[in-house]
Amino acid sequence: MSQKQEKYDVVILGSGIGGLCCAALLANKGYKTLVAEKMPMIGGRCSTLAYKGFKIPTGVVAVPMSGVLKSVFDEVGADFDVSPITVLPKYLIDNKIIDEPADGQPLSILSCFCTDKKEVSMLQKGIERAQTWNAPSNETSLLDFLYQYTKNENLISYFNNKCDIFFTVGAHEASAREYFLSHTGILKDFQPIGFANQGSISLMKALKKVIEDKGGKVLTQCRAKKILVKNQIAEGVVVEGIKGETTIMATAVVSNTGPKKTVALAGKEHFDKGYLKEVINMVPSFQMWVTTISDRPLFDIPFLFTLKTKRLLTFLSASLVSPGLAPEGKYIHYSISGPASQTGPWNLQNEVDLHIQDLKDNIPDFNKYGKILHVGCYWGELPTYSNTPITGFHNIPQKTAVENLYNVGDGVSKEDGFSCGSPGCALTARIVAEDIKNRFKP
Ligand SMILES: Cc1cc2nc3c(=O)[nH]c(=O)nc-3n(C[C@H](O)[C@H](O)[C@H](O)COP(=O)(O)OP(=O)(O)OC[C@H]3O[C@@H](n4cnc5c(N)ncnc54)[C@H](O)[C@@H]3O)c2cc1C
Repeated sequence: MSQKQEKYDVVILGSGIGGLCCAALLANKGYKTLVAEKMPMIGGRCSTLAYKGFKIPTGVVAVPMSGVLKSVFDEVGADFDVSPITVLPKYLIDNKIIDEPADGQPLSILSCFCTDKKEVSMLQKGIERAQTWNAPSNETSLLDFLYQYTKNENLISYFNNKCDIFFTVGAHEASAREYFLSHTGILKDFQPIGFANQGSISLMKALKKVIEDKGGKVLTQCRAKKILVKNQIAEGVVVEGIKGETTIMATAVVSNTGPKKTVALAGKEHFDKGYLKEVINMVPSFQMWVTTISDRPLFDIPFLFTLKTKRLLTFLSASLVSPGLAPEGKYIHYSISGPASQTGPWNLQNEVDLHIQDLKDNIPDFNKYGKILHVGCYWGELPTYSNTPITGFHNIPQKTAVENLYNVGDGVSKEDGFSCGSPGCALTARIVAEDIKNRFKP
């Protein structure tokens, strides 16, 4: 037994976006809240590293400016310093730039890629049915769904690209159900998309401020070592900080460390075999983010989708929207790629080479003025998404078999269409905070 002991209403393990949203919602309602973060900085995969005035993301770059994440910030009164991308995205395909039609119809872009009006119309009707009447099964891949209507290479590449950017998985591996339901889920929240003006860490600092202003604590370099469970009920945690171990007793324990670590911290004897199997079978996804800097903008388009490339999916000229992401007079760009298959096999060096080759081949002036500042490969323990919405994937619930022990973050299920990214994490936080509010008084 550790020597020091403290008591909170709620202890939250990890200061990722799911953890801090949940903590802010509860602290704002008067719950005595503690967040324990093992790293020296907060935010997890929604944070920012600064190098000579350039802001390098550890995760979230494209911030949803409406929907569930924004509603959390509004509810708790946290500063949301995000600028919207006001220029419509463009598409680079076969060395041509295609504008997104300005008619506001989400599917009219399809006719820009395929001249066969009948084919486009059949595909549009099929998609509308999937979105409004009957979504396909989680066992159907998006590619299999599309093949019912088209084999047009350009159309397929459009869906492949969208799917890979927002779901980290190509159309051949993505769940068609999750893809279509996300149009009323996470993708709706990304209207508009914005960039945090000082990097995403500023959003996490804003939530931390709310928690502290309401009497809560956010401790860094404070690692959870054990979740205390008695009679199948969570009682608290043991954390280890700079000054040693402390036992924190709490009415509810919320883990933002991901379901695998939650099981390890609480002890796997508390969970049934089926749950453990689903947790083991989660597929974390791999994406690569390259940060390029320059003395002049390499492109005048903030959001460029790159289709039919070897690996490159998008090129974001972020400092055109948020100049604070680079020092004065300098520019910063973020580009994303993913492997051909999330289930592998893939070779890391090969993936890096293909991404950089694509930048050289597709981005004008990259060779002349672009300088790569950082190559970030996110996979395994630090994935882009913890539970990739791959064909046949299982949602893991927020509640665990241990009473009063919850998970939040991108490793646990949300509603259909909210399986990933910052909106999904914020939704888990809201669901868990609501459950705690319904069950306990502060
Ligand atoms: C490169 C990249 C780009 C991305 N881009 C976008 C984007 O543009 N838009 C978007 O919406 N999403 C994006 N995502 C996805 C998004 O970042 C994640 O879905 C989200 O940030 C995950 O948050 P989380 O709440 O699950 O917590 P995490 O960010 O995983 O945080 C968990 C925290 O728990 C801490 N922790 C772990 N173990 C312990 C322990 N034992 N004790 C205490 N603390 C512990 C960790 O240090 C970490 O800080 C991106 C991800 C990556 C990697």
